[in-house]
Amino acid sequence: MALEKFYEELLGFADLKVVSFEKHPGKYIFHCEHESVSAECPNCMEPTGVVNQYETRKVQDLRISGREVWLHVKVGQYYCPTCHRYFYATPAWVEPGKSYTKRQKKWIFELCEKQAFTQVGALVNLSHKTVERLYYEEAEKRVDIKRRYKDVRKLGIDEISVRKGKKDYACVLVDLERGIQLDVLPDRKKETLVSHFQGLGKDFCNQIEVVCSDIWKTYLNVGKELFPNAEIVIDRFHVVKALNGVLDETRKKLRREFKNEDCFKSIKWKLFKRPEKCDAEDRSLLDKAFEKSWLLKEIYELRNTFNSMFDIAKDKNQLEKWLDDWMAFAARLDSPPLDAFLGTLKRWKPQIAAFASEHVTNAATEGLNNFLRYFRRISFGLPNFQHMRWRILMATA
Ligand SMILES: [Zn+2]
Repeated sequence: MALEKFYEELLGFADLKVVSFEKHPGKYIFHCEHESVSAECPNCMEPTGVVNQYETRKVQDLRISGREVWLHVKVGQYYCPTCHRYFYATPAWVEPGKSYTKRQKKWIFELCEKQAFTQVGALVNLSHKTVERLYYEEAEKRVDIKRRYKDVRKLGIDEISVRKGKKDYACVLVDLERGIQLDVLPDRKKETLVSHFQGLGKDFCNQIEVVCSDIWKTYLNVGKELFPNAEIVIDRFHVVKALNGVLDETRKKLRREFKNEDCFKSIKWKLFKRPEKCDAEDRSLLDKAFEKSWLLKEIYELRNTFNSMFDIAKDKNQLEKWLDDWMAFAARLDSPPLDAFLGTLKRWKPQIAAFASEHVTNAATEGLNNFLRYFRRISFGLPNFQHMRWRILMATA
């Protein structure tokens, strides 16, 4: 008898009485009674004490000493004299309609944060489908979308490629001040963005002071149309990336022209590196290539200057002036890819220069790529968009 009392203590449910228990290999079964003298009718909310009969419910609880714990709980079926209905009184600690306790559910949910559903399923003796459902139901309850956006003033709009190597983009919204993802949208179409932001309300749109995005027309237009008080800033790193693209185009062309020259081979990443990060070996390989092509050297120097201007410019006006000088110089070089870059730069100059006043970037999105690699692996290369979205939201809840 003392042992039953001990188990009641161990289980810790005040209204649970342990009657007996069985020990099986890998499993404990506790036969218990739910001690309730009355229950509230789910229809009229009136309490009733009239028990019609009893039923045994089997629910799984947290493991003890590595063994599964099953509670076979006798619960009362009550009768409501007001509505003439019968209903079962579910203990408050059992997940309604499920065969596990609330704390078991919490534990499964926490396991899912770290492991694949199949692994968790094997661990808790549930199918991976059930585990998956449990996880997303709970995630949806825990994440309060409106609250996430409440104090956002600087908004980043960026994208991630959902499937590796495919042009399948999801749009990522970032709180630039906190450096966290706010939400993920299934694509980067204008109507998707507009309906999302309109759904968050006018007050939200008015409170946004800065919108930072890459040079994607839809984002820039949405930024202008929906956020009347916001300064639009084009993400510095996306611009530098485009300039690095020019550098690589030039290198590839040289590779084609000088098939027998090794010096243009395998220097792509060395060209992209900031010069202060290059070691002696990088330096000498780059110098060899520059000896053969003054144009490559010129564009490389231009890229370095471009970066420095962003590093040290004090404000938007200063950076705009410097960009003008930089563009005048660059225009004298005979390079079609560089000309294309200059066209973009000219068109979006104020938004690009705005970086110097706001100093915001979407760099936080880069961190998502590690997560996506992991997510693709656990979803066997076929990521479900909503699942990916909830994982991201939960990681930053
Ligand atoms: Zn009733």
